[in-house]
Amino acid sequence: MSVSKQDTVVLARCKRYDPEEVRAALRQIFTFYGGLSSLIKPGQNVLLKPNLLSAAPPSESVTTHPVVVRVMAEMVREVGGKVFVGDSPGHDSQEEAHHICGIQKAIEASGAEALFFSDTAYKKIEGYRLWEVPLAAELDKMDLIINLAKLKTHAYTGMTAAVKNMYGCVPGKNKARFHFEYPAPKDFARLLLDVYYAVRPAFSIIDAVIAMEGAGPRKGKPRRVGLLMGASNALALDNVAASVAGFRPGQVATLAAARELQLAGSDLGSIAVRGLTLEECRVDDFDRGPVSNGQLIRLLALFPMARIRDFIAARRPYPRVNAELCTKCGACYQACPARVIEFNDSIPDLDKAGCIRCYCCREFCPQGAIEVSGR
Ligand code: SF4
Ligand code: SF4
Repeated sequence: MSVSKQDTVVLARCKRYDPEEVRAALRQIFTFYGGLSSLIKPGQNVLLKPNLLSAAPPSESVTTHPVVVRVMAEMVREVGGKVFVGDSPGHDSQEEAHHICGIQKAIEASGAEALFFSDTAYKKIEGYRLWEVPLAAELDKMDLIINLAKLKTHAYTGMTAAVKNMYGCVPGKNKARFHFEYPAPKDFARLLLDVYYAVRPAFSIIDAVIAMEGAGPRKGKPRRVGLLMGASNALALDNVAASVAGFRPGQVATLAAARELQLAGSDLGSIAVRGLTLEECRVDDFDRGPVSNGQLIRLLALFPMARIRDFIAARRPYPRVNAELCTKCGACYQACPARVIEFNDSIPDLDKAGCIRCYCCREFCPQGAIEVSGR
């Protein structure tokens, strides 16, 4: 059976963040696609878009590892591309994130340039939820984008990897606004698809050398998976990554939405996996997090009827503050798009009445003091 590259994902073994090992794995991935030079012409501006969710050191596995960024930048420069690195963190400043995540050193070591997302440009689309997407205006100066995502659990979407990483191209406060305007998981997932198609990276890599399991995307545990994965279709790539981590398709919001819309890459059975086999890569005991592992999501996966599924989804658990861990920093108050957190330099008070259960507070709590569990 001949399978188009559009439907292909390459899995490459990479056990540690050793530059030579990372380079060999990336080379293996791009070789399948005819080499990096078939993707990039000399003189083109190439943006590397890592996941820089927040200013966290590489050891915490919150962000794409700087060695992956550095080696990718070197490889793009070798084929004549001009390399830029940028992302819009949800909470911390981009400058701070670059320094603490080790990205600034990667930029300097590879001869790349930092691209700061400071302006917004609106791109017209005919999306599933949006008709225009606010994107970093600096993207307009780029000829192509290489998506450097991180494999992590996510309390709201189940998993974050290649498709969701493009949400970082939406600057600053717009991210929180969309959470508020599209509180239902299904709507938000379709919005994420809109953003992905609006940005349309030329190629996507997932850093799963050390992924994050458990309470992701910010306070989970680093988990060695030993893989770099790549594809031109980020949906197909996420589908394979989800399978590696043991998610069923219904447990990842973007994949469930894509299946409903019958998008290319949404059917695992029609994706060709090259390099290693899925069986060689599966991590059976990957901790998929409190929400994804919970009874609620297991039930969701069992119900094919959309109305029953939406009914169950509406009963997602509310977040709550663990007062023993809270340092009263106020980050959750800043992050809450629904403005339902009361904070007066004391333990924050979450008002369930207006809470849209987007879990932004949990995502941005630096202490892991916001818990989401229960029925
Ligand atoms: S309290 Fe948390 S989960 Fe509720 S709306 Fe605010 S940020 Fe979202
Ligand atoms: S972000 Fe976390 S640590 Fe900071 S006030 Fe909120 S719950 Fe407490």
